[in-house]
Amino acid sequence: TNKFKSGLSKTSASLAGAMDAVFMRSHIDEEMYEELEDVLISADVGVNTTLEIVDRLRKEVKERRIKEPAELQPLMSEILADILKGEAAHSPSMNIQDGELTIVLMVGVNGVGKTTTIGKLAHYYKQQGKKVVLAAGDTFRAGAIEQLQVWGERVEVDVIRHQAGSDPAAVIYDGIQAAKARGADILLCDTAGRLQNKVNLMQELTKVHRVIQREIPGAPHETLLVLDATTGQNALQQAKIFNDATGLSGIVLTKMDGTAKGGIAIAIRRELATPVKWIGLGEQMDDLQPFITDQFVHALFA
Ligand code: GDP
Repeated sequence: TNKFKSGLSKTSASLAGAMDAVFMRSHIDEEMYEELEDVLISADVGVNTTLEIVDRLRKEVKERRIKEPAELQPLMSEILADILKGEAAHSPSMNIQDGELTIVLMVGVNGVGKTTTIGKLAHYYKQQGKKVVLAAGDTFRAGAIEQLQVWGERVEVDVIRHQAGSDPAAVIYDGIQAAKARGADILLCDTAGRLQNKVNLMQELTKVHRVIQREIPGAPHETLLVLDATTGQNALQQAKIFNDATGLSGIVLTKMDGTAKGGIAIAIRRELATPVKWIGLGEQMDDLQPFITDQFVHALFA
C-alpha cells in the first residue's frame, strides 16, 4: 500500500540512492561488492546478514554469468525477498482465537513505543469488528497507566487499571476477568519495561505469564516484543534478552518512518527466530501495518 511506501521513504531513499551508485559502476568487481557491503551495513542490515546477501549475489552473478552491474538491482530484490521469506512472508498471521478470548502480551523496554502500539492494535482490531479491552500492566513507570487510559479513550476501548505501584499480575488477572465478563475478543496486556533491573523485570513477566496461563490454558496467544527501529543493533540485543525471559511469538518494529536504517527488519528476520509481524510508521492510531515481506522489499527497491 501507499502508506507502507511513504512510511518507509527514509530508508528507501537512502538505500536506493546508495545502491544506485553501486550499480552504476562500470564493472562487477571486488570493489563493487565491498561498496555494496558498506551500503547494507550502514542501513543496519547487520554484518552477518550483509555477508550472506553479498555471498548469494556473488554466487548468482557467477551462475547466471551476469556482466553488467545494472543487472544486479532486480537480483538484489530477489535475494532479499527470498531471505525474508518464512512463515510470515505474506501476512502477520496473528494467533487470534475464533469466538474465544485472545490474550496478547506486550513486552518491551520503556520508550520504544509500546503504549502507542497497544493503542494502534486496539484500533486495528476494533475496526475489524472485535471487542478489545486493555490491561494497564505497567504499574511501575510514572504516567504509564494514564497514557494507556488516554489511548483507551482515543480508540474507545475499556482500560482495566489499578493504582501505580500495584502488582502487575493482579492487574492482568482483573483484566482477564473483565474481558471475559464483557464478552471481549481480545485483551491487550501492557507490561513494565525497565531494563535497568533485568532480574526484577523478568520475574515480573514470568509471574504475569503464569497468571495468564492459569486463567486461560494455552494463553498468552501472542507475546509481542516492541522494538524501536531507530536503536539499530541494540534492538537485536533486547530481543535476545526478552526471548530468553518470556519466549516471543512476534515483533513489532516501531518508528520505521523515522529511520533511514530500516534494514534492521532484515537483520531481525535473519538473526532471530521470531518474525516481525507489524511495523509502526508514525504516531497516529492508523500508523501500524502488518509486516508483509514482499511489500517491504518492494517499498525499499521499487
Ligand atoms: P513506551 O514507553 O514504550 O510506551 O513508548 P510510547 O508509546 O510512549 O512512545 C514513545 C514515543 O514514540 C512517543 O512520542 C510516540 O508517539 C512515539 N512513537 C511510537 N511509535 C512510533 C512510530 O511508529 N513512529 C514514530 N515516528 N513515532 C512513534
